[in-house]
Amino acid sequence: MSDVMGQCLCGAVRFRLSGELRNVVICHCGQCRKWHGHVGAYTRVPISALRIEDERSLSWFRSSEKARRGFCRDCGSSLFWERIGSDQMSVAAGTLDEPTGLSTRLQIFAEDAGDYYEIDDRIPVRAPGATGT
Ligand SMILES: [Zn+2]
Ligand SMILES: [Zn+2]
Repeated sequence: MSDVMGQCLCGAVRFRLSGELRNVVICHCGQCRKWHGHVGAYTRVPISALRIEDERSLSWFRSSEKARRGFCRDCGSSLFWERIGSDQMSVAAGTLDEPTGLSTRLQIFAEDAGDYYEIDDRIPVRAPGATGT
């Protein structure tokens, strides 16, 4: 399986993902909607499979007790979500170069969805209160 490259809008943060990428999960939670301007759409890899090739402009925002979010401080692209202490990194799917080989397979926190759009009922929705992706 070949590597997938990703970068922020301005190119100051560039990274490489190797190995198998998890299919995309859409997160409707209020934090993701604030952070991305709309829903979050993430693939995920072991941190060992993420190589940040240019991190001049990578900054981290501690978004909650349990998580931090990585972004480009030059262009503002939102890139990463990491649970503190986890060995996994969630990566915003829209930052990846195509073809990604990915498809969207699950929606989470649909109960927190914004009031300005419809949930796509062709994509399975995780039950409220359930955990794991
Ligand atoms: Zn940038
Ligand atoms: Zn979220």
